[in-house]
Order: sequence, then structure tokens, then C-alpha cells
Amino acid sequence: MDCIFCKIAAGEIPANEVYRDEAAVAFRDLNPQAPSHILVIPTRHIASLADIAEVDADEAGRLLRVVAEVAADNITGGYRVVTNIGADAGQSVPHLHFHILGGRPFGWPPG
Ligand code: 5GP
Ligand code: ZN
Repeated sequence: MDCIFCKIAAGEIPANEVYRDEAAVAFRDLNPQAPSHILVIPTRHIASLADIAEVDADEAGRLLRVVAEVAADNITGGYRVVTNIGADAGQSVPHLHFHILGGRPFGWPPG
């Protein structure tokens, strides 16, 4: 499959990785929107959070734990976790990813 995040997960494309296990990878975003901007992806291809039922609950739960652990290890203070679903929400890479954004204040609502 021609998916850039599958290629990062497979190690075929380099990324600035901060975490890796058998089921998830975290790496710094190429175009950061905050001083710390890290993406957490499942190694397995899932198009978006809307398709999370494709994985079992244990795997889904572990992925969320990775998000929290990566944030704790890399960000001081508060942070925001975002996952875009579909083009209307701004999803440009159709492989599930959680953005972890930190290092600056964020407004609410997000706009
Ligand atoms: P989306 O818009 O789908 O929610 O987020 C995709 C994110 O992936 C964007 O923030 C974009 O900067 C990042 N991105 C796209 N291609 C690459 C890449 O090859 N390497 C890295 N590190 N980030 C990427
Ligand atoms: Zn993929």
C-alpha cells in the first residue's frame, strides 16, 4: 500500500522517532505546529479513528497509553492531543495518527 506512515512504520522512510514498539511508533512532525509536535501511529494500517473497531480493544488501549507515555516523556506542562478524521477535519494522511502538541498555550474552541 502506498501509505507514507506505513513506510515510516516499516522503517522504509526515515523519521525523527521518539518511541517505537511492536505496535506503535512516535515521531516528530515534519511541519510542527507547536514547539513539540509528535505523531503517534499504529504500526498496522488503520485509516482513521473512525475505523478503530478494526483492532481489538487491548491494542486500541495500548495505543492510547503510548500517547500518554510519549507526552509524559517529551513535554513539560500541558499538551493537546488531536486526531483528524477525514478531509473535512483536515486529515491529509489516511493512516490513523494522534498529534501531540505542546510547548505553547492553545486556545479553545480550536477553530
Ligand atoms: P493530518 O493533517 O493528516 O492530521 O496530519 C498529518 C501530519 O503528518 C501533518 O502534520 C504533516 O506535517 C505530517 N507529515 C506528513 N508527511 C510526513 C512525513 O513524511 N514525515 C513526518 N515526520 N511528518 C509528516
Ligand atoms: Zn498506512
